[in-house]
Amino acid sequence: MNDVTNTKLIAGNWKMNGLREDGAALARGLAQRALAAGGGGPGCALLICPPTTLLTTVGSVLTGSGIALGGQDCHAAPKGAYTGDISPEMLAMGCSHVILGHSERRHGHGEGDAAVREKVLGAWRAGLVAILCVGETQAQRQAGQAADIVAAQLAGSVPNGAAADNLVVAYEPIWAIGTGLTATLDDIATMHAAVRPRIPAGARILYGGSVNPQNAAGILGLAEVDGALVGGASLDAESFWTIARCCA
Ligand code: PEP
Repeated sequence: MNDVTNTKLIAGNWKMNGLREDGAALARGLAQRALAAGGGGPGCALLICPPTTLLTTVGSVLTGSGIALGGQDCHAAPKGAYTGDISPEMLAMGCSHVILGHSERRHGHGEGDAAVREKVLGAWRAGLVAILCVGETQAQRQAGQAADIVAAQLAGSVPNGAAADNLVVAYEPIWAIGTGLTATLDDIATMHAAVRPRIPAGARILYGGSVNPQNAAGILGLAEVDGALVGGASLDAESFWTIARCCA
């Protein structure tokens, strides 16, 4: 479950990247660094969310390294006639976390807050920590609606029963994901401060959106930021580790 301490969490979202050899090599690069550092991250908790096809391979490489394993999405139901989907219980065979409501699911697959909320409940039923993604579009930010949009997403997708050990929120401005653009430190601090009273005390709030080795120290140095959800830069072991080291 969620490690409810003062440690930051650095989570890598590999998205639809990695085949058997390169996925295993990337995981090995991280496991070796973690073991050399005494297990886990350098002063932080580490989580890797590879594609479903690599969960077993990456999970076995990470065994004993102190790095946790997560899924990138799941269905709400425990089992059934849902071709192509994966249930929370299936993920829980090796994972501790699952990313839910990522903007690439909300926009690419039409998932709204109600569907995301059902998935969060499914994740909890299976004992998984839900990493719930929220964030505004560029047009919404320019219209001054960022805080309202994120508040509405939280209201619509966080079920009753949320606690610091079953929920992580990832604030990810959509216009910053995979674009090389990042929100300013002031904007990140402001948005995280706006999220804080809307979620259980102690639950982590991660920032996501083009976090890289160059900007990570500034972002992770903010008191309001409890970690990062990293996409592109998590596909390189040294880059991901350098980001994690900013927590040390
Ligand atoms: C993400 O996929 O959640 C993400 C933040 O991606 P990137 O770091 O590539 O912007």
